[in-house]
Amino acid sequence: MLYEISEKVIRLQNEGKAIIKFNVGDPDQATSPDIINAAVKAMRDGKTKYGSSAGDAKLRQWLAEMYAVRPDNVVITPGSKWAIFAMVSLLLKNGGNIIVPSPHWSSYALIAHHVGAELRLLKRDLESEWETPPETLRRLIDAKTRLIILNNPDNPTSKVMDSRNLEAIVELANENQIPILSDETYADISFVKVRSILDWEGPHLLVHSFSKTFAMTGWRIGFAILDRELAEQMVKLNQISISNVPLFTQEAAVKALELKDAISREMREVYRRRAALACRILSKTPLQFTQPDAPFYLFPKGDVDSEAFALKLIDKGVAVVPGTAFGEYRSHFRISLTMPEESIQTGLEIIAEECR
Ligand code: PMP
Repeated sequence: MLYEISEKVIRLQNEGKAIIKFNVGDPDQATSPDIINAAVKAMRDGKTKYGSSAGDAKLRQWLAEMYAVRPDNVVITPGSKWAIFAMVSLLLKNGGNIIVPSPHWSSYALIAHHVGAELRLLKRDLESEWETPPETLRRLIDAKTRLIILNNPDNPTSKVMDSRNLEAIVELANENQIPILSDETYADISFVKVRSILDWEGPHLLVHSFSKTFAMTGWRIGFAILDRELAEQMVKLNQISISNVPLFTQEAAVKALELKDAISREMREVYRRRAALACRILSKTPLQFTQPDAPFYLFPKGDVDSEAFALKLIDKGVAVVPGTAFGEYRSHFRISLTMPEESIQTGLEIIAEECR
């Protein structure tokens, strides 16, 4: 279905039709010129060779200090997606199951299937504000559970986990000695405080990215924070696959971290305004939705079959992702606010008109 939608978008664009693309979670902002200059300087300085498969020492040191871990707990990866792929491959190589709260980012399911792991979805709903009930999680855990994946803040709901809810889930995971892989890709630009999984003791793992905070999706850089033994295995996996993230990209990432406070503050404010505008427009429609705690997504529910609705909307010049891409959510669809306010306004008014 996603393929059908993106093909239709491309076809209409090729025919010269303008499409408001609420379907892609790729920030519209340019990467900061300071970050670009750092990469260019690094290239000019000869950082164009192979590098360490664990990542550049300076970048690992920065991240280690930020997260109060040791540099050998940090592995630099080509995006957080690769970090997730690597961890799931390593932890599930002898079989087992993974528990993922749903709606969920489709890559978790695709990666689980790729490595032959059983995926157990913990179904959440809008009516309970997308909460992940520990008692439901308890019922899904068995002797073969190797991993729980949490996405905090969450794609597609933009929900940040309530601290007490997270606490209860961590306790349950610890009781059963199951690691939690916390994907905190959206944490630095969240509108509300996010408690990192590293705030708790336990065999837990974190993945994060430069993609969203710094509008660096195409640079392909992210990182994992994990125990030394797993870090060593991940470095070996890097050695036999990607070798290393380009050194000039890592140099740019160090510059990004130096500028993190200012850039993330600015990004957050842009998305906060966009989210407020979107909520204002959607609140005048029959659609139900929860207030986003974080960029970039809204996941409204309506009296629609979202697959048919998405195809129909493209003809009106708007692309969204049907809820079925995130689990059993046929009457939901996902809107990504990665475009200027004028386009958001125009696109949402078209959606509002279609929902009346
Ligand atoms: N996690 C989540 C929840 C995402 O939505 C995305 C990107 N859409 C990623 C990870 C991957 O980001 P990247 O590989 O660019 O770091």
